[in-house]
Amino acid sequence: MFVLVLNAGSSSLKFNLFDMTKEVSIAEGMAERIGLAEANLECTLAGDKRRDTLPLPTHREALEAILERLRAAVLHDTPIHAVGHRVVHGGPKYGDSVLVTEEVVADIEHFSLYAPLHNPANALGIRTAMEAFPDVPHVAVFDTAFHHDIPDFARIYGIPYELSQKYGIRRYGFHGTSHAFVAARTALLLCRPLRSLKIITCHIGNGTSICAVLNGKSMDTSMGMTPLQGVIMGTRCGTIDPSVVEMLMEYENLDYKAITDLLNKKSGLLGISGVSSDFREIEMAANQGNERARLARDLLTYNVRQFIGSYATVLDGVDAITFTAGIGTHSTFVRAKVCSKLTFLGVKLDPEANEHGKGERIISTSDSRVVVTVVPTNEELMIAREAVR
Ligand code: ADP
Repeated sequence: MFVLVLNAGSSSLKFNLFDMTKEVSIAEGMAERIGLAEANLECTLAGDKRRDTLPLPTHREALEAILERLRAAVLHDTPIHAVGHRVVHGGPKYGDSVLVTEEVVADIEHFSLYAPLHNPANALGIRTAMEAFPDVPHVAVFDTAFHHDIPDFARIYGIPYELSQKYGIRRYGFHGTSHAFVAARTALLLCRPLRSLKIITCHIGNGTSICAVLNGKSMDTSMGMTPLQGVIMGTRCGTIDPSVVEMLMEYENLDYKAITDLLNKKSGLLGISGVSSDFREIEMAANQGNERARLARDLLTYNVRQFIGSYATVLDGVDAITFTAGIGTHSTFVRAKVCSKLTFLGVKLDPEANEHGKGERIISTSDSRVVVTVVPTNEELMIAREAVR
């Protein structure tokens, strides 16, 4: 059974083709710069990586080019059985993946009010794919769904209740497929049932979110109504005093678009360091003595630690802490720094396993009261599984 997973951005289209009889990815890649004079299409087909520069005026041409390559190299005449779509925001309505109908696409477009940078592109990707595969089931998998049932007190903001109700203003949380995936893998690593575990999952990448997972369910998470809240990220500011926004708008003469741009694209690691949003470059600059890069790096690890401490109380204890995504999976420094101040919880990191191990593994010592794991995330596989389900 072949399942195509699509993740559409405003000028990009990522794809992954899974053979779900074996749960393996057989092709993946991405079209970038869609709509510009020269777009890029990178495909890894049957282990063979190829990159082309070609005009891709819209997502439709991008999908056609992807399908042409898939059919020539791996699919041949085998049909695609289902398409799974990554959708960032499911609003208050969707607490689970859903078979796409016209109503669902209209809802996704409507929820652009909470995710203006993502949902319009996600809806466009779905419409394009439905034209290409009109007779195949399409499934929308929401980043917010895993957090749909967090308790009311963990999601309400301290603004007038009527306004929260009127506009659906509340914490929704994101990276849900990732948190769900790594929590389940962590239970397997511990050889214990997920439904009996208290796990704090740390997705630390360009976007970062931490999640308190109780018995397999999200109880709280650091991102909010939008992915701007919580820990500082590559270019996003994370939680700040809302008065900073008012002040900057007034004194820097910024309108709504300019302040949104500043907080989403010019802040976080990039804004503090002035070096880069890429953590590898931050680490390099910090190690060479760049004070602002050090400050950015230290704030990131401090924020992650703050959330872990906070979620230990949300869960009333912790069995496992899991690191995932680009930084969480690869930065030995970040994991060591975060865990160094968690000794009060009984965390004992095994420096050898932290520094020299590879892939999915336990990185705490055998007498650590809390098991610490590294689990590379696989959101695409989760989406394919949801499509099959
Ligand atoms: P996204 O949120 O876009 O999916 P990723 O999860 O791929 O992002 O994370 C990207 C981040 O991971 C970048 O900041 C990158 O510098 C960082 N990263 C990737 N590899 C390493 C590494 N070996 N050491 C430290 N950071 C890394």
